[in-house]
Amino acid sequence: MAKSDIDTIKSVVKAHWPVTTPGAKAKRYVGEFFDLTRRGKKITGKVEGNHGIYTVSLEVKAERLSSACSCYIGAYGNCHHCQALGFTFLQDARAFKATRAKSLKSVRTPEDLNKYLNGVTLEKLLSELKTKGITQKAFAESIGMNSRHLTSVKSCELRNRYYNELGAIKLACLWFLEHIENKK
Ligand SMILES: [Zn+2]
Repeated sequence: MAKSDIDTIKSVVKAHWPVTTPGAKAKRYVGEFFDLTRRGKKITGKVEGNHGIYTVSLEVKAERLSSACSCYIGAYGNCHHCQALGFTFLQDARAFKATRAKSLKSVRTPEDLNKYLNGVTLEKLLSELKTKGITQKAFAESIGMNSRHLTSVKSCELRNRYYNELGAIKLACLWFLEHIENKK
């Protein structure tokens, strides 16, 4: 029988941190997270750190654990907040509210739109544009945005740091995708 997403996350977390107790720095954050969610094989939570609130996420990609944290040392994951989130999940996976990405077609209300935009990364939308022959550079130029800035917005999202214009750029991508399909 296929493993559930929850069991898969658990076993990959255990393999990534093969210890029975988290390190001292991580320990004080275990169980202290809020806004806990799980979307498929990705879990996210927020925690109050030394310099504000951090967004921490762990995702199973090809049987390996990929992690990200918005704290200053966690850009590429593997900080103590990531370990703490992993142990929080092992302790009580049910505390993580399961959410599903909204499909674009079912978006009707502003809340739906917010759910949809949270469920799709800018990286994914830009790669969809690319399959239609639109480069990131061409897209950036057409909306009057510096291409380097677009790259920064894209990579920051993957590290749980969000620019205010992130949602608006995603909407611009959707507009592009829709209008190019209409030409067919
Ligand atoms: Zn961190």
